Amino acid sequence: MRAPTSKGLGPTRYTHRMSVLDPSLLPVPRSWDSEDDDRLPPALKVFALRTLELGEVKAVGFDMDYTLARYRSPEIDALAFKKAVRLMVRERGYPSWLLEVDFDPHFAIRGLILDGVRGNLLKVSRERQVLRATHGTRPMAPGAIEACYGRRRLAVSAKGFRSIDTMFEIPESGLYARLVDFLDADRLPGKDYVRLFHDVRWAIDSVHRNGEMKAEILTHRDFFIPKDPNLALALDRWRRGGKKLFVATNSDWTFTNGVMGHLLDGQDDARPRWTDYFDLICVSTRKPLFFMESPPAIPIAGSGCDHAYTGGNAMWVEATLRASGEEVLYVGDHVYGDILRSKKTLAWRTLMLIPELETELLKLEAQGEDLRELLRVETSRRRCQRRISLLLDEWARLRHRRHVLAPRLSPEALQAFDREMAQLKAEADEADQRAEALQTRATQLNASVEAAFNPLWGPLFRDREEQTRLADQMQQYACAYTGKISNLRMVDPGATLYAPTPALPHERM
Ligand code: IMP
Ligand code: MG
Repeated sequence: MRAPTSKGLGPTRYTHRMSVLDPSLLPVPRSWDSEDDDRLPPALKVFALRTLELGEVKAVGFDMDYTLARYRSPEIDALAFKKAVRLMVRERGYPSWLLEVDFDPHFAIRGLILDGVRGNLLKVSRERQVLRATHGTRPMAPGAIEACYGRRRLAVSAKGFRSIDTMFEIPESGLYARLVDFLDADRLPGKDYVRLFHDVRWAIDSVHRNGEMKAEILTHRDFFIPKDPNLALALDRWRRGGKKLFVATNSDWTFTNGVMGHLLDGQDDARPRWTDYFDLICVSTRKPLFFMESPPAIPIAGSGCDHAYTGGNAMWVEATLRASGEEVLYVGDHVYGDILRSKKTLAWRTLMLIPELETELLKLEAQGEDLRELLRVETSRRRCQRRISLLLDEWARLRHRRHVLAPRLSPEALQAFDREMAQLKAEADEADQRAEALQTRATQLNASVEAAFNPLWGPLFRDREEQTRLADQMQQYACAYTGKISNLRMVDPGATLYAPTPALPHERM
């Protein structure tokens, strides 16, 4: 019999299938009618990654920027972008037409890596392989990504790369990408990718340090810093619950006092000033060094309280508050500077703030129908593939038997073999067509689900069946995560937050 070369039976057709999504990893939105522990809407929840006995926690520390305080985004990003461009034009000889360029709020997401050598922005998997990339603002095709980075593990902490770890770095990636576009279009003569990378870093750094942007934020604090009425209630509940509360922020006293005063002063007659909510306040902490070195704590004259300091360090905080190691819970938004360092160096418990979580959850809910269909389609596709493989195996077995037995078989017996083999081939072809249709549908669904998060980058924590580096870091170092601090109002300070029980695939029911 002829070798099976017709459509559907070549070995590559059946074997080189890209898996679309592992259903066990699908972010299927939880139903509020399920056996959910507390029936809280997900946006108000604190999600535990490690079981957290809050009763054992004596002190709770808070980062300020993007933790206690949220900033109106993308307006604050546009402000940083514009100020950085102005500095580059004024002090680094960039052309003045750049002043007309606007910040694109949809371009970058957190968790990306800037490749300052090649002018690229990368979304990286937990294995540190590049999942998606742009050169400047233009998406790179899979072939171009493969040619540039291959499948090797990227050393993302090496020189020339920069992690977009906090919301503050979003304008930096947007500005760099736009400048790469202009450089490629020969509109920035004398520059190169690395020069742009360093100039943008310098400009954004200067914008944060020179005080101009912070002064503008404070002048328009009602606009830039939305108030959350539940923040004061949350802090008050945890203080009454017996916890010592402290602040450790890299911002200086003027900015911290302006922001926190705006958020908390006058919220509660029993605690008229923001400083009344905390036992200890450390500003200009230079995290992550705060967790690793021992700079002195210098009292702030004129702070209006006796527990506000510039500098200080984590060990001094432990001694002052008489709480150490796992008795301290630290809450912050920076996966490295707040979460990884406090956990690794001091074994503090950690709660990671994800400012985007509420929006991601809303998008997940909105995509529920498509996600459920995707799960069904993908399950059917995998069943189909299994069936094809069994049919082909049976066909190959018959061919072998026919070949070996042919000298001894009657013409009728040979015909019976042929009929059976033709039947198997037809069935395999049919299953293959079905698998192909399912694959097309899954690809469509997947693309539309991911585009709903961000058309260029997809969701923050995953890409198809892969988790991102940000998801990986969070799972490694955060004990829990939540979308906003005021969610702590819903948590009993003496309760235990239970992490999902880890399970091997065979233990899942
Ligand atoms: P925290 O999150 O409360 O610790 O504070 C973060 C501080 O770092 C804020 O005052 C930011 O303005 C500041 N910051 C963010 N990015 C940069 C930078 O690139 N250079 C200098 N300061 C920065
Ligand atoms: Mg912060």
